[in-house]
Amino acid sequence: MSAKRSSKKTLKGPPPRASGIARLAADADATEDEITQLIEKTRAEGRDIRSPLPWLRTCHENGDLQAMLVTLRAERGAAELQEWGNWREQQPKCPHGEAGGRELHPQSGEPICAICRHDARSIHIGHKEEVKA
Ligand SMILES: [Zn+2]
Repeated sequence: MSAKRSSKKTLKGPPPRASGIARLAADADATEDEITQLIEKTRAEGRDIRSPLPWLRTCHENGDLQAMLVTLRAERGAAELQEWGNWREQQPKCPHGEAGGRELHPQSGEPICAICRHDARSIHIGHKEEVKA
């Protein structure tokens, strides 16, 4: 007897991955980009995880995801700072000979060059100082 089984299942099939990422991002107070990066990182680290997204959801539920996001953001911040540093070195020198000396540091929001920075602060507090180049 070869019963012809219906292959119809009640499952609707796997949900679209993008929406799973979006949902987790919303739940974890992260961006979809960050969740995608964590998935890629999980794969790159060679972990034996078949489905990174459900695994990340579990991490979110047990509180581990926040620590992973903190690490991810710190790494990305360092990479962006490195990139900014490379760009800054290509900028014109300030009057004191520092490449990109007048550019504002992305974290401090002040010029890189100490003299330019001093000058900028002096302007802020009202008494402008003459700085000889
Ligand atoms: Zn300067």
